[in-house]
Amino acid sequence: MSDNGNSKSSNFIRHIVTNEIASNKIQHGIITRFPPEPNGFLHIGHAKSMCLNFGLPLEFSGYCNLRFDDTNPDKEEEEYTEAIKADVKWLGFDFKGHLHHASDYFEQIYKFACELIEHDKAYVDDQSVEQIRLTRGTLTTAGIESPYRNRSVKENLTLFQRMYDGKFGEGSHVLRAKIDMASPNINLRDPTLYRIKNTTHHRTGDQWHIYPLYDLTHCISDAIEGVTHSLCTLEFEDHRPLYDWVLNNISIDCHPQQIEFARLELNYTVTSKRKLHQLVTEGYVNGWGDPRLPTLKGMRKRGYPAEAIKDFCERIGITKKQAVIDTAVLENCVRENLDTNAARAMVVIDPIKVILTNFPDSETEWIEVPNHPKNEAFGKRKIPLTREIYIERSDFMENPPKKFHRLSERSEVRLRYGYAITCEDVVRDNNGNLIELHCTYDAQSGGGKTSDGRKIKGIIHWVSATLGQSIEVNLIDRLFNAEDPASAENFLEHINPNSLIKCDKAVGEPSLKEAKEGDTFQFERLGYFCRGEQTTAENTIVFNRTVTLRDTWAKITHS
Ligand code: ATP
Ligand code: MG
Repeated sequence: MSDNGNSKSSNFIRHIVTNEIASNKIQHGIITRFPPEPNGFLHIGHAKSMCLNFGLPLEFSGYCNLRFDDTNPDKEEEEYTEAIKADVKWLGFDFKGHLHHASDYFEQIYKFACELIEHDKAYVDDQSVEQIRLTRGTLTTAGIESPYRNRSVKENLTLFQRMYDGKFGEGSHVLRAKIDMASPNINLRDPTLYRIKNTTHHRTGDQWHIYPLYDLTHCISDAIEGVTHSLCTLEFEDHRPLYDWVLNNISIDCHPQQIEFARLELNYTVTSKRKLHQLVTEGYVNGWGDPRLPTLKGMRKRGYPAEAIKDFCERIGITKKQAVIDTAVLENCVRENLDTNAARAMVVIDPIKVILTNFPDSETEWIEVPNHPKNEAFGKRKIPLTREIYIERSDFMENPPKKFHRLSERSEVRLRYGYAITCEDVVRDNNGNLIELHCTYDAQSGGGKTSDGRKIKGIIHWVSATLGQSIEVNLIDRLFNAEDPASAENFLEHINPNSLIKCDKAVGEPSLKEAKEGDTFQFERLGYFCRGEQTTAENTIVFNRTVTLRDTWAKITHS
């Protein structure tokens, strides 16, 4: 996390905690929780929540519980639980000894629900979900009380027991809080606390026939765990009175403080789990770990360092005001991190052959070059120069415009770390397609000099054609080409057709063979790239573009 004083002051929750410690309201450190529902993979929005929830206790002493909010057996799967744990660890947060499940508390939550009934604060309603919805009222009109609202405590206890015993069908009964059907806050109009479900739960099996809803589960789980600050996103602000109502009406002596903050919204992407599910299950992307997705797994596969994501979360801060963050901010954090931490290498993505006609055929000159221009600790490597090399097709132009400081006929350019070369001849096939370039090199021009002191403006990257390593490069870009795809009628129509361009003719320097999955490099002049998974049978080496060298979207975004 950055130590930038300005950005730290933008976190109002940090302020609250600082003041509580100063006034002795908090004496033994703070306890927070991160409560994902195991029904999908974590995404960049969750990263914001994790940085806050796991980050604060690191500053103020205390800890954060990773709690799976697993109260809906219909949608939850073990696969997600494991993936979430792996993602939390990858981001660098430790939940050892602090791993919980809301389902661990089913028994206690049930007992507290019975307490509410005993105090005439909850009742069993026989109305259907639809009837309950229709009688809830609107912002301007009060709701209608259920005909079952005034059942006796005894009858409610019996009915709730029978719900518990699995004696009723799904949808036939619910348990509702008895609060106020005329409350201006619709959340307080006798909200549903329990519903009947006969689905098998991935942890508790078929033990339960009733499952508590979020508003009952969350506050009780927080209190059981002794959470001091229950930090959630703004949409729960209107639920806070219910959070407090439940805790005030049961015999539990811990009452965590719910504080809301703005959820992360990024342009050019979607973070709704429903939409992410759709992209994955309908095959628009290649699984939850597709490097174009804003999932933590996708970002990891793409080569985003965990530290860059945390830096981003620190920079955007925590506020009460909802705003859309430019994806360029995240990309810049990645760029800055990789500029410092990625070794350099040379790769030619779209090669055109160059023959150095005056370079001896059998010779290989091994040139020693730094792995990082600003950090000697990265060490050095040797790259081979041979008579036949590749350069980027776009670095040669037949009729170049004025300031084209690359190669054209009769012009001279410098090979990065190598010699100056002059194009003498352009070889074409019968159809006029460019086949190769014949160049001469100036043997006196090594080490950045020239034999006669003449200046050479352009420098281009290159690789040996004979000793180079053939690789596959995926040019990855933003998945959507609309700023706010989520608000479109059909967000799928805004998928960027160029979000994945496969280049299978790329050639890299031989050392790239040694790269391991997840290693990132700056391919000089091209961008940052990350070694991908080894999937194909024939041992293809794949690199995914993590981010371009410069923000190419800025013009579009701000025009
Ligand atoms: P849903 O409830 O629709 O399944 P969710 O995004 O709320 O989706 P959860 O798994 O419940 O997913 O989220 C876990 C935690 O992460 C919650 O505390 C939630 O507030 C937080 N969170 C989720 N999305 C964001 C976001 N975009 N910005 C900040 N926090 C988020
Ligand atoms: Mg949620």
